[in-house]
Amino acid sequence: MTADARRAKRERIRGLIESEGETVAKNTRHLNESRYAAIEELGEAHEELRTLARDIKEESIERLPELIETLTESVEGNGGEVYVASDAADANEYVRSVCRDAGAEVVVKSKSMTTEEIEVNEALESIGCEVVETDLGELVIQIAEESPSHIVGPSLHKSTEEIAVLFNDHFDLEQPLETPQELTAFARDHLVEKFRQADVGMTGANFVVAETGSIALITNEGNARKTVEATNTHIAVAGVEKVIPTLSDLGPFMELVARSATGESLSSYTSVFSPPIATPPFDGGERSFHLVLIDNGRMAMREDPHLRETLYCVRCSACLNSCANFQSVGGHAFGGETYTGGIGTGWEAGVHGLDSAAAFNDLCTGCSRCVNQCPVKIDIPWINEVVRDRINRGADPGRFDFVFEGLVPDEEPAGLDLQKRFFGNFETVARVASATAPVSNWLANAPPSRWALDRFVGVEPERELPAFRRETLRDWFEAREPTNAEEPVRRVVCYPDLYTNYIETDRGKGAVETLEALGCEVAVPDVPASGRAPLSQGMIETARTKAEDAADVLEPYIEDGWDVVVVEPSDLAMFRRDNGHLLPAERHERLAENSYELFEYVYGLLEGSEGDGTALRAKRSGNREVIYHRHCQQRTLGLEAYTVAVLERLGYDVATSRTECCGMAGSFGYKSEYYELSMEVGSLLGEQLLAERDRRVVASGTSCTDQIEALVGERPTHPVELLVDR
Ligand code: SF4
Repeated sequence: MTADARRAKRERIRGLIESEGETVAKNTRHLNESRYAAIEELGEAHEELRTLARDIKEESIERLPELIETLTESVEGNGGEVYVASDAADANEYVRSVCRDAGAEVVVKSKSMTTEEIEVNEALESIGCEVVETDLGELVIQIAEESPSHIVGPSLHKSTEEIAVLFNDHFDLEQPLETPQELTAFARDHLVEKFRQADVGMTGANFVVAETGSIALITNEGNARKTVEATNTHIAVAGVEKVIPTLSDLGPFMELVARSATGESLSSYTSVFSPPIATPPFDGGERSFHLVLIDNGRMAMREDPHLRETLYCVRCSACLNSCANFQSVGGHAFGGETYTGGIGTGWEAGVHGLDSAAAFNDLCTGCSRCVNQCPVKIDIPWINEVVRDRINRGADPGRFDFVFEGLVPDEEPAGLDLQKRFFGNFETVARVASATAPVSNWLANAPPSRWALDRFVGVEPERELPAFRRETLRDWFEAREPTNAEEPVRRVVCYPDLYTNYIETDRGKGAVETLEALGCEVAVPDVPASGRAPLSQGMIETARTKAEDAADVLEPYIEDGWDVVVVEPSDLAMFRRDNGHLLPAERHERLAENSYELFEYVYGLLEGSEGDGTALRAKRSGNREVIYHRHCQQRTLGLEAYTVAVLERLGYDVATSRTECCGMAGSFGYKSEYYELSMEVGSLLGEQLLAERDRRVVASGTSCTDQIEALVGERPTHPVELLVDR
């Protein structure tokens, strides 16, 4: 990306933060609170339902061709018709022919992202039909002539005040509308009249049941049901992935979809019916039903081992709402031609192509907070990494590509963006910078270097660069006298991740001393980087090589009975989760099962029978009242409670940050086009930390530490530094 393109992107993002960010943040955070409560209500059943739902979608996609045949027989047996459209043009031609046959002048529609995908409104308007959106949010978008910014709430980026202005202008109202009640009542009256005039009703379908030819419509406004009842010709448009085998398969989804989408145990209008409906028509005509199943790239996605999982998506939007970047900027930045949010990358790559996905794919930082929110357990960050890799591989080499050849590992293509080469090769950068420190630190921060880093690489000049240490953690460990206990309770490899080894060496020393104090024998071998840095840039084959190299070194230790303890949470996430995509299953499982987060391990030693629970004490000096900010990957892996428990056990008074994300996300906040977004995401955390100034700030992740320093002007302490006097 050129410097000009980065600047343009930054300005576009800034514009959307200013115009839509506040409303998107308010609405998505409200949806999150409701979802957390609704899911808590399910208790342990939530996980069981997710597993069931995932199994049903896996089976459905596996059996899809056969299920479409069964469905066709069922629908035709009910008196309806099925049309399988290969692409948008094919689908629109069929819909137009149905509307022509029905002599339709007015078509009422309920909300459907699939109809947005094929742009059916434009297709019908081209033959003179008036298309009326009957979902309130879609109506707002239609009047505003905008695209939806959110899968479930298409106008979620608009405030009540903005909608009032829009309605008052559009309908030229003498008595201006103001409140949500007034706006809703007006829309209802307006739409009732349109329902009376309509000849054709078009809906989507949340699920389509092959066994019975039934469709399930889940809404909160009753407009989908009304669309079906008030018109004699019903067209349902659905992606082929909506087909499930049996009516009983609907069960888990009925429990999960509304909870995941809006935080309700059941949406206000949940209709399951087998059209054409039996209700007598209003004008004495006949009821007809047309099910249009859309392929538009989906069958190819089904054959794609990585994009296939996208087809399990039930479009609940939990992943959008839980995403910190989405909360700040909304779907008009974090979205493509139709679909928005993290999963939008998979949809856009599959149905519209890589160019549409490329426009927003980088906004997924791989923090993984969405993974536990998805009701069908889709690995959304992995889909984003795969698409990023494909985008990288599609880039044309520039004229001066040969100059930077050395920065591209053999596994990666020429043409790879220089910014991605830089951050994806952070291991090389760190090795060289450490070996030449402090000169490298001085040189990197000299104004000409900062200018060049900004201009050619896109490293934000406002960000302070990390200070590399000449003496690495490994150097320190090798140079000291061994202090291992004669009969160690455990033998532990303290994994020297890039940050702990080259930059934040004090926390590594603290980790070694803590483990030794608890009676462990500790080793700090020369282990390659985990592959996190290249993975975050979509350099998957490089990440795979790194993951294999790291496993090569660690496996002999594990086979010999050693445990692996990791200080940096994102590296533990590689060992526990991401390596599942990079290593053979057996190698991944062996490393995952024997790797621990530092405080998880310390907690186990303190609570278990092996460790000496009295061996650890709180640091003698310093504030005992702390405020702790957890790393996103710690949350996803369910590990944050161990740090709090250990600190409390040692007498610290621990408050935790209420904010879910600091906004930095590794290299993301260093990229000049995303710097302002990163600071915006972190602003809530900054406010809370400043409000609790009397507490010492503690954080586990390197990027959280860098961001907090930028937000509040004070560098946080790593929790392990509260355990040792050094
Ligand atoms: S990926 Fe999962 S969380 Fe996101 S919209 Fe689809 S089903 Fe919902």
